[in-house]
Amino acid sequence: MSKVHNFSAGPSILPPEVIKQASEAVLNFNNLNLSLIEISHRSKDFIAVMDKAKALVKELLNVPDGYSILFLQGGASLGFLQVPFNYMKVNGKAAYVNTGVWATKAQKEAKGFGEVLEIASSKDKNFSYIPKSYQIPGDADYLHITSNNTIFGTQFKNFPVSRIPMIADMSSDIFSRKIDVSQFDMIYAGAQKNMGPAGTILFIVKDSSLGKTGREIPTMLDFRSHIKGESMFNTPPVFAVYVSMLTLQWLKDNGGVEWMEKTNQQKADLMYGEIDRNPLFEGTANKTDRSNMNATFVLKDENLKEEFDNMWKAANISGIVGHRDVGGYRASMYNALPLESVQVLVDVMKAFEKKQG
Ligand SMILES: *Cc1c(COP(=O)(O)O)cnc(C)c1O
Repeated sequence: MSKVHNFSAGPSILPPEVIKQASEAVLNFNNLNLSLIEISHRSKDFIAVMDKAKALVKELLNVPDGYSILFLQGGASLGFLQVPFNYMKVNGKAAYVNTGVWATKAQKEAKGFGEVLEIASSKDKNFSYIPKSYQIPGDADYLHITSNNTIFGTQFKNFPVSRIPMIADMSSDIFSRKIDVSQFDMIYAGAQKNMGPAGTILFIVKDSSLGKTGREIPTMLDFRSHIKGESMFNTPPVFAVYVSMLTLQWLKDNGGVEWMEKTNQQKADLMYGEIDRNPLFEGTANKTDRSNMNATFVLKDENLKEEFDNMWKAANISGIVGHRDVGGYRASMYNALPLESVQVLVDVMKAFEKKQG
């Protein structure tokens, strides 16, 4: 089998050793002669998996005491709804920074709960930048941001300084760089970009931020039920949690988030360096806001599309077709994508330029 360079935007590439270990555990977990997916989630073998996954999150992100770590189901899209349920007061209001498709969806889910203030938006320029100057209303219940704009390829390089509780959807850049968790009351991230397979979502919740809304919250959407149940209020997505645990262990073994941040910077420098140098291509995002996870770019001459597409396909590159809202190409360079794969793409772009003469 020849190596495929997998730039998929999500679900996305995982380390090959993680895929191998995961497949072994599906056949025979911990030498129990049982599969990981056919034992009780309350067995000591699985509880150890959940405990380790949480401990790795705490260690890798330096999560302070006073925060709970949960692995739940429903994805970030249900998270959009859990945010106002758990944080917006009855007759309250919330502030949202709109930086793209996911941020827009998050905002939409809060609408039935109270007043939703879109305090900044980059929609005027097809979400190609991160808004910088805006006022955060001191009387809103929370500020919601999306740290990385997966579709349009922009990323907050600095987070807003907020005096009200800050909540972030970090689905597409969690564990890709160092963060200060104490800046946030809640962080959430679907697993399928930087952490594991689809099917689980990570929540990092400041315990003291809960229980302030005066609102009835359905049990399954109430973070307090899940904290009380130690992330096993109901059956957790055992396979997704297990593979996430393996990926986090892989990250730790290789040098943790610090190592990852450096490697991701190298990948991004290589990729954007070529996009800027090569006269046939053009980046679509504002340079200072460009995402280290998702590089978006277009061909200056659309007529060359077929020729370029044939070349990257022949180089075993997969998953760089851009989202329909942006067009062109999107190279997603998540944690598990090796620098070598970016080099292969860059070499194809150079060879393509040469061919055009
Ligand atoms: C992929 C993505 C989502 C959606 O996650 P689901 O698990 O499909 O609900 C939300 N936010 C961001 C930033 C994403 O990249």
